[in-house]
Amino acid sequence: MHRLSPGATIGILGNGQLGRMLCLSAARLGYRTHVFGPEADSPAEQVASVSTVAAYTDEASLAAFSAAVDAVTFEFENVPAAAAAFLAAHTRVRPSWRALEVCQDRTKEKQFFASINAATPPWQPVNALDDLKAALTKINPPAVLKTARLGYDGKGQAKVLIAGDADAAWSTVTGGKPPAPNGTFAVLEGFVDFACEISVIAARGQDGKIVCFEPAENVHANHMLATSTVPARINAATAAAATDIATRAAKALDLVGLLAMEMFVTADGKLLCNEMAPRPHNSGHWTQDACGTDQFEQLIRAVAGLPLVDPARHADVVMRNLVGADVNNLDGYLADPAAHIHLYGKAEARPGRKMGHVNILRPKSS
Ligand code: AMP
Repeated sequence: MHRLSPGATIGILGNGQLGRMLCLSAARLGYRTHVFGPEADSPAEQVASVSTVAAYTDEASLAAFSAAVDAVTFEFENVPAAAAAFLAAHTRVRPSWRALEVCQDRTKEKQFFASINAATPPWQPVNALDDLKAALTKINPPAVLKTARLGYDGKGQAKVLIAGDADAAWSTVTGGKPPAPNGTFAVLEGFVDFACEISVIAARGQDGKIVCFEPAENVHANHMLATSTVPARINAATAAAATDIATRAAKALDLVGLLAMEMFVTADGKLLCNEMAPRPHNSGHWTQDACGTDQFEQLIRAVAGLPLVDPARHADVVMRNLVGADVNNLDGYLADPAAHIHLYGKAEARPGRKMGHVNILRPKSS
């Protein structure tokens, strides 16, 4: 284990709300933080010890950043390969590039799930309209076409309800620009009539110890997470199977840090992996108020070479995202001692913008 001493500096690539909450956790354990990202007056910059506002391609700024920190982690996975390689050559980067690379591309991610014997919805790679039409003979609609890279919160996705929707879906997802001839631009996935969606967050330390948070049940609205509820309405066997998948994935990636694994649960209790992220996750924010140790502290512990602990949940919880104007209606939550509010310091409450979240606790039922 490479243990950082109190006062050491943890570098964080990305300066949004996840970076902000990581900085707050790091500070509690006595570490300084240095955030790096392209946005000025970002949520993370407001609470970090030091901030660099620069592009991820700016090598001079990356060099100065890597010289100023004792280790680096990420608050998002779409770090350009060159930036990750540059940093890895100069400082300790956790998680490693391999974990990031798999999570950046839905094709690699699905192949990875197959390699650890974890089921996914049926899928086909698609790089041209003809591929899409051929894929629709193998996967019956309804289906969903998703870009392989850089999609989030429903961006880069189009539903295919009938085979005749192929042209429209292709033009939505490509934005009218033909993709490069070699490679996989998108994947077609069979639409799953799921009973519920869950996620499990695994933390893995430098010594290989893995601890998982309990599965959260997630509800999405407008392609964005709306609520996470714990305990999820799944039986013990399904919860154990979901935890086992997240554990196997973290181990197979040799990851040091966090891995959030999103899964669909079918009516007959089968688990189908949707996607994963090697970082703190919106569906893990409930851990901040319902557990002894939250997802942010587990990541800081992993990066700093400290032991991971059993996160021990002490309450039932519903996490609600505060999106856009929700942030202007906090009086009910402010008056409720069971409601724990977390705001991200964003000045402008634009529609669809994540402004904060609230964790509403209830006595532990199971
Ligand atoms: P994603 O960007 O892949 O995480 O998708 C965002 C959300 O869209 C998921 O959490 C689901 O609610 C829904 N979704 C995505 N893919 C599928 C699918 N194959 N079947 C059913 N729902 C899906």
